Amino acid sequence: MQFDLFDAGSNTILGSPSYEEFRTKLKTSNCDRCELHTGRTQIVVDRGNPDAAIMTIGEGPGKNEDETGFAFVGRAGQLFDKIMATVGIDTNKDMLIANVVKCRPPENRNPKAEEAAECLPYLKRQIEIVKPRVIVLLGATALKHIDKSRTSFQMSDEAGKFFTLADYPGTRFMVLYHPAALLYNAKLKPAMWEHVKRLRRYLDEQGLSRQSGTRAAPQGPESDSAALG
Ligand code: URA
Repeated sequence: MQFDLFDAGSNTILGSPSYEEFRTKLKTSNCDRCELHTGRTQIVVDRGNPDAAIMTIGEGPGKNEDETGFAFVGRAGQLFDKIMATVGIDTNKDMLIANVVKCRPPENRNPKAEEAAECLPYLKRQIEIVKPRVIVLLGATALKHIDKSRTSFQMSDEAGKFFTLADYPGTRFMVLYHPAALLYNAKLKPAMWEHVKRLRRYLDEQGLSRQSGTRAAPQGPESDSAALG
């Protein structure tokens, strides 16, 4: 993948044929395409399994992610792990988790439009190499930057819904509340529980059970929304 407006360094990263090479090159790149590079400790590319059938997209690294170099390892990430475990999904084995931006925004603010735009080619390349069957979009930031047609929406209308995009053939998107929203507003938990059960049902219908879409026996939800903490 070549981007004319990209510098040679970025094009070298984007041209990586394998996911491992892409990850290593991006992590070690000293990317300075947007102002977020000034405040980061390190570039956070992902967490999980690039061979998985599910990809999850969040917003951007927070303090813990910036320190450890892995996506979704802070409080929100731990809650997400717990939520996914209730429907038999291991976030390290059964999905790859990435973010709209790869460097921590100051004070964990939302990424600016120009920061997301500079970083988006990297996310698109991740999606292109991984070829996920399902992409889970966590929260409004992920939704609006992946589906540019959505200029104004309420998460309460979008969460739990599936859709497809012509730019990503072969992939079905599902919108979920961002786990950080659940940490602040426990009233969202029952809806989230319904949504993750819907995701589980879809994965089962598609034969996308545990471990990268293999047809291993589905791990059905045995718990209820109380398991969401
Ligand atoms: N950590 C991440 O990696 N992404 C988020 O969106 C939130 C926390």
